[in-house]
Amino acid sequence: MAIKNAYLADVYAQVEARNAGEKEFLQAVYEVLESFEPVVEKREDIVKAGIIERIVEPERFVQFRVAWVDDAGKVQVNRGFRVQYNSAIGPYKGGIRLHPSVNASVIKFLGFEQCFKNSLTTLPMGGGKGGADFDPKGKSDGEIMRFCQSFMTELSKYIGPDTDVPAGDIGVGAREIGYMFGQYKRLRNEFTGVLTGKGLTYGGSLARKEATGFGLCYFTKEMLAAKGDSFEGKNVVISGSGNVAIYAAQKATEFGAKVVAMSDSNGYIYDPNGVNLDVIKQIKEVERARIKEYVARVEGATYTEGCRGIWSVKCDIALPCATQNELNGDEAKTLIANGVKLVAEGANMPSTPEAVAAFQGAGVLFGPAKAANAGGVATSGLEMSQNSMRYSWSFEEVDAKLQGIMKSIYKAASEAAKEYGCEDNLVAGANIAGFLKIAEAMMAQGVM
Ligand code: NDP
Repeated sequence: MAIKNAYLADVYAQVEARNAGEKEFLQAVYEVLESFEPVVEKREDIVKAGIIERIVEPERFVQFRVAWVDDAGKVQVNRGFRVQYNSAIGPYKGGIRLHPSVNASVIKFLGFEQCFKNSLTTLPMGGGKGGADFDPKGKSDGEIMRFCQSFMTELSKYIGPDTDVPAGDIGVGAREIGYMFGQYKRLRNEFTGVLTGKGLTYGGSLARKEATGFGLCYFTKEMLAAKGDSFEGKNVVISGSGNVAIYAAQKATEFGAKVVAMSDSNGYIYDPNGVNLDVIKQIKEVERARIKEYVARVEGATYTEGCRGIWSVKCDIALPCATQNELNGDEAKTLIANGVKLVAEGANMPSTPEAVAAFQGAGVLFGPAKAANAGGVATSGLEMSQNSMRYSWSFEEVDAKLQGIMKSIYKAASEAAKEYGCEDNLVAGANIAGFLKIAEAMMAQGVM
């Protein structure tokens, strides 16, 4: 697919000129704009109000220095970011990523996508994202704490429970959220729900840790059910072995599937008997070690160096849950040749445009990230509600709400696809459904 509509092509050309060289950001904008063709044909009011020109431009983008002292007493400097993309439907909301690959392009792509995802959840949350080019790997606990405190000292100037509520992402889990929350509380002298993904002893929500992975499987279950199918007896390949991957593997297994392969950035494990999640959790969540340790602990499993090889493992369902552009066109063709029936994205933008086109061209069911991985932020939204009420729901209550939200996201995306003439195309459906709500809110609030 390409942008054929002249107006959308003009908007994209302007985005390209303003954000030259920001390839992840441009990729994300292109994918969204190309799915808006049926919208601009039908909705003159949206075009007239300049909504699309406005929605591609973040409301605010801050970049800042994060200086901290390492264990050797040396001063280290990282670059921090926060993009506050769109606040039409609620306070900015989106995670913080700590990874050496973080730059303005990555943060803007994530923030842009977050707007549509948050809108799809049906909860009142605008879109934002943040992070730093800091590598948590190999750092001591003290170094992580000093970095997080320095990062929050600056970030605290821009966020707040009714303004912008960050959460975790790659490299940011409960430990990092704890240090950031503590620093915010110290600086402001207030105990508020300014971050989500908090520990259970200080305002966190039950089921938040599991939410993105569980939500991905709830969404996948809906995709399968629409075709009269289920997880039962399916072989599943899941890339990554972080927060999203681990809980996707747990729920897929509970649904009767067998997860045969998982990875980290060094390589992947193959376990024909189905991965033992207790071992994975021990290695990844407790020891923070490498996935290759798995083969020393589980008989019959093999380890292969190089994470991309995971897509050569034969499976019925593939769930990319590591990072952006981790699955390219050739790897998609290998999956298709090996009989994959469904791909749903746990990570943000893990499939390249060539991979998405290959899956859609081959009739593989494809669940895009904005819809499929929205369970994490949806449950963050539920954490915000609980914080505002100064109350907490049980695991079962939160999980039931999450299931309901994933069902309604599937329904909204598939119905929008149908209404706008691209039935079964959940990429277009999710983009359109997420966009329309934001567009209505922006038109109601005037030009800004
Ligand atoms: P984690 O940091 O917990 O785990 C990330 C996993 O992906 C690790 O196994 C990591 O391996 C691997 N990985 C990271 N970068 C690369 C890379 N460049 N190449 C290969 N593998 C890589 O992060 P999350 O599980 O939280 O996030 C995973 C994805 O899901 C991201 O795209 C994130 O934006 C998305 N997401 C997360 C949500 C959440 O609630 N956490 C919500 C919605 C989306 P290694 O340890 O070797 O680095």
